[in-house]
Amino acid sequence: MPVTPTRWLAEYAWLPEHAEPTPDVLIEVEDGRITAVAPLTPGSTPPAGVEVYGDAVPLPGLTLTGLANVHSHAFHRALRGRTHGGRGDFWTWRDQMYAVADRLDPDTYLALARAVYAEMALAGITCVGEFHYLHHRPDGGGYDDPNAMGAALVEAAAHAGIRLTVLDACYLTSSVDGRPLTGPQRRFGDGDAGRWAERAAAFQPADPHARVGAAVHSVRAVPADQLRTVADWARERQAPLHVHLSEQPAENDECRAVHGRTPTALLAEHGVLGPHTTAVHATHPTSTDLTVLGDSRTGVCLCPTTERDLADGIGPARRMADAGIRLSLGSDSHAVIDLFEEARAVELDERLRTRRRGHFAPLDLLNAASVAGHAALGWADAGRIAVGARADLVTVRLDSARTAGVPPVGAFFAAGAADVEQVVVDGRVVVAEGRHLTVDVPTELSSAIEAVTPA
Ligand SMILES: [Zn+2]
Repeated sequence: MPVTPTRWLAEYAWLPEHAEPTPDVLIEVEDGRITAVAPLTPGSTPPAGVEVYGDAVPLPGLTLTGLANVHSHAFHRALRGRTHGGRGDFWTWRDQMYAVADRLDPDTYLALARAVYAEMALAGITCVGEFHYLHHRPDGGGYDDPNAMGAALVEAAAHAGIRLTVLDACYLTSSVDGRPLTGPQRRFGDGDAGRWAERAAAFQPADPHARVGAAVHSVRAVPADQLRTVADWARERQAPLHVHLSEQPAENDECRAVHGRTPTALLAEHGVLGPHTTAVHATHPTSTDLTVLGDSRTGVCLCPTTERDLADGIGPARRMADAGIRLSLGSDSHAVIDLFEEARAVELDERLRTRRRGHFAPLDLLNAASVAGHAALGWADAGRIAVGARADLVTVRLDSARTAGVPPVGAFFAAGAADVEQVVVDGRVVVAEGRHLTVDVPTELSSAIEAVTPA
């Protein structure tokens, strides 16, 4: 591993709350933290303690803070390109996904997740939220270490060089009316929320790049009278709590039929919503749902490329933001791993719906992809190029075939994952010259996916 320079000179850097990037910014890093940020405007004087600029390593292009991928199911990456030809919907796709889930064990999962997280690093993602429910053996029995699968994810992220929040998901039933888990779903379940809480509490990775949060898989998977156990577990630990919400109209219909209220209302009633909670998707909320989410300061993670791929629909992003909901982004099924694409979709999908332009400013898209996402994953000290923040620096080329001639502020509408030239995570260089320093990403993806896909 090469020695990481401690002083960088960004051709452009996007500083917090600036409408557009700033030219010629000196960024100093020590022990994984940013210790100085100094725009070198004509006539400016160096900040205290900074005497020379001469030894700063130039970063040509646009340097952003680290991007946060708030919603991931790493193993779904094995389905990319395999489910797009036929007809069908979310539910037929899910059957194919279960066939892969059935073939994973801690070793194959480690290999796959390591390659997927390294692909994320190549895309400028410095932190991922893994919504994790593959807890047990395929027949539902436990591994010797009941958290062996979660531990594989932690190790995978360490190899890939990115931070990880394992969102340990409680997954108990297969329908809103409480039908039991069967077939490939058996390995997701802990029996009841109390046993889920016990297992999740025993999962305490000591690695500084990892932390554990909680998840309610959905109102389909956790009975109403057990929701509070998961919510309390997260609240006691001040840990992030995530939940799939209203991705499908069918979920709303079932919930109304069984409980006489929307999934959002049910979660609110049982203490699941709040400032540490992130609802994933929220594609089909009512107006009242949006008010409830906003008033409770619950965030929403949009996953536009997955919602597009699965024909879910378009979440009402502008109405969410207007309700005071903080938006973050996830690549979810990994049909695409590219947060630039997710970010611009927030604006572009709104344009398709309304046939008007200009709903979100470029800074809004950056914030959704970075600072809001890190906060949703429990890393409040990341996602900003600012003194004291974690030293995550993602440099995007402005001279590629896609970005040449593009002003830096236009990067979110022009650049893609392939334009990421260098990635620094917690002060360490993980990607240089567009290559991952320790993982041969295409080769490892090929072999890991071959190992788990049905012939
Ligand atoms: Zn998901």
